[in-house]
Amino acid sequence: MKKALLSILFALVLVPALAQESLPSFDGKSWWEHIKVLADDNMEGRDTGSPGLKRAEAYVVGQLKTTGLQPAGLKGYYQPVKFESRHLIERESSAALVHEGKPEALTLGEDAIFSTRADLAPKVDAPLVFVGYGLSIPEKEFDDLAGLDLKGKVAVYITGSPSQIPSALASHHQTAGERWKALRAAGAVGIVSIPNPASMDVPWARVALNRLHPSMELAGAEFNETEGEKLALTFNPAHADKLFAGSGHNFQELAELAKERQPLPHFPLTVSIQAKAKVKKKIVESANLVASLPGNDTQLKNEYVVLSAHIDHVGIGEPVNGDRIYNGAMDNASGVAVLLDVAASLKKHPENLKRSLLFVFVTGEEKGLLGSKYFAAHPTVDPKSMVADINIDMFRPLVPLKMLTVLGMAESDLGDAARQVAESVGVSVQPDPQPLRNVFVRSDQYSFIRHGIPALALDIAPTTPEEKQIYQDWLTNRYHAPSDDLNQPVDLAAAGKYEDIIRLLLIKVADDAERPQWKTDSFFRRYAEAASK
Ligand SMILES: [Zn+2]
Repeated sequence: MKKALLSILFALVLVPALAQESLPSFDGKSWWEHIKVLADDNMEGRDTGSPGLKRAEAYVVGQLKTTGLQPAGLKGYYQPVKFESRHLIERESSAALVHEGKPEALTLGEDAIFSTRADLAPKVDAPLVFVGYGLSIPEKEFDDLAGLDLKGKVAVYITGSPSQIPSALASHHQTAGERWKALRAAGAVGIVSIPNPASMDVPWARVALNRLHPSMELAGAEFNETEGEKLALTFNPAHADKLFAGSGHNFQELAELAKERQPLPHFPLTVSIQAKAKVKKKIVESANLVASLPGNDTQLKNEYVVLSAHIDHVGIGEPVNGDRIYNGAMDNASGVAVLLDVAASLKKHPENLKRSLLFVFVTGEEKGLLGSKYFAAHPTVDPKSMVADINIDMFRPLVPLKMLTVLGMAESDLGDAARQVAESVGVSVQPDPQPLRNVFVRSDQYSFIRHGIPALALDIAPTTPEEKQIYQDWLTNRYHAPSDDLNQPVDLAAAGKYEDIIRLLLIKVADDAERPQWKTDSFFRRYAEAASK
């Protein structure tokens, strides 16, 4: 009796420290097994609202049940989300540039593409003004719109930002909602966006190929960030000179400046635009999945560290090399697999955790971070109880893991935690090396940031010119293409090591006496201040 009691005491004292020491390393194999299911052709590319995505979600729910994680959605693990799907009827839509009174029709798909992310008006006829990057950033005293007459006009801009704007801030102001807020206040009625040729991840031909795939928005007026945007066109940079005819400028000269992140000139264009858009709308239903693993500190267990990854992808599209299924193995079955592996591992050793963990598998990411936007606005736990979000999206273990890119590294002390954890296993860290690509606002961490929650995303970084080429080639050939599938080379050891780091980081944040804080000089701190009011 006595002896037994002693050994229990002994176990109570020693187990937490020992368990943490002895957590087995991940080897990447279980990670790949999950991806084999989630990125199988049977899942049909997991488009938001599709039967394929429902099957993938059923697989994840099955795994969560087997693991023994608690359901933390509204209907078990599920949090239903409603979308408005918008499908452009291209044969009943048109666009033309009017030069000296003569309309010249644009070829949709070749010259330009309608973006149905905005609620397009049936008809728009308006002058055009070139507004540089179209950015208005008062905290840096930068204003592309100063002194321009935009009332009733359509703003033409090149995506990107000048180099004096720090990358996270530049990314924030380039979200569709923020850019439009400034343009709308200046009186604009629409946009023509020219992708910066220096930062196009997907070549124009592939963008154009799937232009008729429906877009989606969250149903409900509270989520409409582009109210009043009657026209939204994306213009092929290779044909953009048509916009500048007679203006005294050419696109080449502007693109050179935009490539170097130099300030751009602003001027009215001599051509105007006429556009007609016919859009078919319907309601689509999908869901986020939410699961929790309770911590064991009497106080801190009421707080959550969130680990998020999007489970949706882009579905079935136009064929490339005879393949129509956009499997999304790296984007982002890979992130979902990390959540499942880390959840299962920590469930076996919950003694490591003081705070609780929340695993959130969001839908609608590819439609514009919509599932996470909904979750962050209507969380299934007390919003103030979420202390941090670590998001995983397309972390890409294509080479051995020597360095991580930490998006949001300088914004909160989560960045310091990530650095310490990575360095403890011999991995170095770097901030966003390609600010032009705006990745900080291009995945679900951003939805949490907008609600004041410190957040990070971690990607494996190439370190040599050869490795950098591998990553660039992957974007050109496989990103949002059917070849992001199970027939691609991945480095299982790198994936395993990445999972080790994510698990260590979760434990560190879950156990820290203090919840993570924004840095005093972080632009994003304002959202925490707004949320605490
Ligand atoms: Zn994607």
